[in-house]
Amino acid sequence: MDVLKKTPVREQDAKVRATNFEEVCLGYNGEEAKEEASRCINCKNAQCMKGCPVSINIPGFIEKVKNDDIEGAYQIISESSALPAVCGRVCPQESQCEGKCIRGIKGEPISIGKLERFVADWASENGIKPQGAAEKNGKKVAVIGSGPAGLTCAGDLAKMGYDVTIFEALHEAGGVLVYGIPEFRLPKTRVVAKEIENVKSLGVKIETNVVVGKSVTIDELLNEEGFDAVFIGSGAGLPKFMGIPGEQANGVFSANEYLTRSNLMKAFNEDSNTPIMRGKKVAVVGGGNVAMDAARTALRLGSEVHIVYRRSEEELPARVEEVHHAKEEGIIFNLLTNPVEILEDEKGWVKGIRCIKMELGEPDESGRRRPVEVPGSEFVIDVDTVIMSLGTSPNPLISSTTKGLEINKRKCIVAAEENGQTSKEGVYAGGDAVTGAATVILAMGAGKAGAKGIDEYLRNK
Ligand SMILES: Cc1cc2nc3c(=O)[nH]c(=O)nc-3n(C[C@H](O)[C@H](O)[C@H](O)COP(=O)(O)OP(=O)(O)OC[C@H]3O[C@@H](n4cnc5c(N)ncnc54)[C@H](O)[C@@H]3O)c2cc1C
Repeated sequence: MDVLKKTPVREQDAKVRATNFEEVCLGYNGEEAKEEASRCINCKNAQCMKGCPVSINIPGFIEKVKNDDIEGAYQIISESSALPAVCGRVCPQESQCEGKCIRGIKGEPISIGKLERFVADWASENGIKPQGAAEKNGKKVAVIGSGPAGLTCAGDLAKMGYDVTIFEALHEAGGVLVYGIPEFRLPKTRVVAKEIENVKSLGVKIETNVVVGKSVTIDELLNEEGFDAVFIGSGAGLPKFMGIPGEQANGVFSANEYLTRSNLMKAFNEDSNTPIMRGKKVAVVGGGNVAMDAARTALRLGSEVHIVYRRSEEELPARVEEVHHAKEEGIIFNLLTNPVEILEDEKGWVKGIRCIKMELGEPDESGRRRPVEVPGSEFVIDVDTVIMSLGTSPNPLISSTTKGLEINKRKCIVAAEENGQTSKEGVYAGGDAVTGAATVILAMGAGKAGAKGIDEYLRNK
């Protein structure tokens, strides 16, 4: 064993997995996990914990894995995280815990994410539940949205003794974890549903098919339905488009719609009733995790797939692992390329995407070098499907139906970072609804902060 290197993790072969929706990464077994855990030097001043937005006691749980006490490891993780099997699979560890790992200075950091996943999967297979369902204190809290922010806030409040009900607009709980991130990265039944069951085992109730702002308003929840406080974790599900000619053509989709058809409505199964476009040649515009997921889904549905991204590989916002997997599977990357028009045939269906080459200029307000068009470099990629993956913003339904709830220019709810407090008394918010599209773990951190804020508010009221 080379202590400078991560214990390799088993994966499905790239050629095989490009044709199925089974999970790509197969995870560690007990022996591999113990070997990887033994690389951890258990730093006193653990930097990895500082990189974790929910402050998991990382050296503590890894020490338990080293000593074969996997249940102990799970209880340590679940003190801080309601969704460890999810985070172990989708967190950008390279820029968080693993990015700060001292082992990483001279060699490769500890595979913290893969160890977290191993522990959570072991607990799930062995029927271990998180501890801490407290006696009820008689106070009722409504949580809007069942994504990572809502689930975390609800779980933490239930542990403190609150009577918590989550109201979810869709027919299934989980937010982006069920409708956005594909099965091949995050299995729905084996992983997401189990972690949601764990949150429910703390006493949290989940009511699906309730669109807050239509079925019931926040003011009604507070004034008529007997809730003492509300947490808004409604995410950022409204897709953006480019506004270029041809974007209304048949065969142009938002990544959100395309992925929802495949993931939530199971259109990838041949026997599903939900239609999905199985294009011959697909262009996915964008370079984030969502773009990689849409591209890899289209590939698995039988398409040749081109990513079109206006900056260079260095600026790709997707996780390094996702880009690596996408390349291995055969996704074609058209970098420093920007669409200018979508071409239609005489019946209004997409027949191509006209693009222009870009070069990088001076840094812009985001700190990244601004892409600038190269004059006279236009060219056409012949495609029959275009998937736009340009980011999302919060749906205005809640802000427009809640009196006194302040939003900012980006239509995000204004809420304090430390406790989620909004401009309206008794109403707290966190996750993508506040920050705009971000990450699972940041949404979870905001859910935790919101639970603390609500607890302080209700104890002082
Ligand atoms: C395709 C895709 C891939 C991603 N990949 C990654 C990744 O690899 N790693 C990572 O860390 N992050 C990833 N992200 C980002 C991450 O999933 C989000 O940042 C995170 O889910 C935000 O959590 P949230 O709880 O704030 O919102 P969401 O997960 O969006 O959940 C919000 C929930 O609120 C519900 N809701 C909305 N409005 C209402 C209403 N009016 N009434 C009732 N319910 C309502 C929605 O239906 C939804 O279920 C990805 C996102 C997408 C779309």
